[in-house]
Amino acid sequence: MLQKIKNERLTEEMPETSIVNIYSDLEKKECRDTGKRRERKIKDLIGRIFGRLKVIRFICIDNSHRSIWECLCECGIIKNFCRSTLIAGHSKSCGCLRKENARIKFTTHNKSQSKEYRTWNSMIQRCENQNSVGFRYYGERGIKVCQKWHKFENFYEDMGERPKGNTLDRIDNNLHYSCGKCEECIQNGWKFNNRWATPQKQNFNKRNTLKITYNGKTQSLVEWSIELGINKKALESRIYRYNWSIEKAFSIPIMSQYQQNNNNKIKIIELKKRIKALETELQEIKNKTIR
Ligand SMILES: [Zn+2]
Ligand SMILES: [Zn+2]
Repeated sequence: MLQKIKNERLTEEMPETSIVNIYSDLEKKECRDTGKRRERKIKDLIGRIFGRLKVIRFICIDNSHRSIWECLCECGIIKNFCRSTLIAGHSKSCGCLRKENARIKFTTHNKSQSKEYRTWNSMIQRCENQNSVGFRYYGERGIKVCQKWHKFENFYEDMGERPKGNTLDRIDNNLHYSCGKCEECIQNGWKFNNRWATPQKQNFNKRNTLKITYNGKTQSLVEWSIELGINKKALESRIYRYNWSIEKAFSIPIMSQYQQNNNNKIKIIELKKRIKALETELQEIKNKTIR
């Protein structure tokens, strides 16, 4: 990655003659640090091309001291970019390039091989295929995939690439896989309810809403905690941290470290008392005169 940026920097090397004195050529700017007017020299980017973008004009120095430039994309959209992202090669189009690449990648090439496609497919399966392993937790609970997301391309366009180690998660666990934009979403008032999340985040999300069945009764962990008289945190770590079965986690009574110590050991103060009593008793025996 670094090497890639370096290479791009080399190819985008600045022409030496193009230093523009912003102080004289453009609007005078106050320097926020000193409050004094300060001369700022900025390398002129006007006319330079970065991917699909052509730099039209200098806009301003923003609050973070970055120079902002207006660019015209090949597709006709005008958008502002900061100099450093242009030079580093992070900005190559108004956004149209990324969308196009995604479309090409997933309509013509190894569509069924991508990790996003697999994620999308298993989402559809667990919501709509009664034979799917996860159906009872999704489809059966009424979790739906909205109209627009039945097409993989739409799903990919909204969600983008799946970060490594992440899985698809719903922000509200009782709501649907919804794009928030299509006809069905708008009619039902469904908002965008999805994110890529790490398993820890998902577990946290689930444990607050997940109902647990034990001895034929189904209720939330909080309710179980009250009924069993076992601290909720203790139940949580038994289940999520130590991976105990529900039966074990719910049936073993809690015994704190303090209680255990109390049962097995005599307190030091108590021991000292007993030793003192023994000592005085011993002294008395010694002092006794034999008749
Ligand atoms: Zn564009
Ligand atoms: Zn939708």
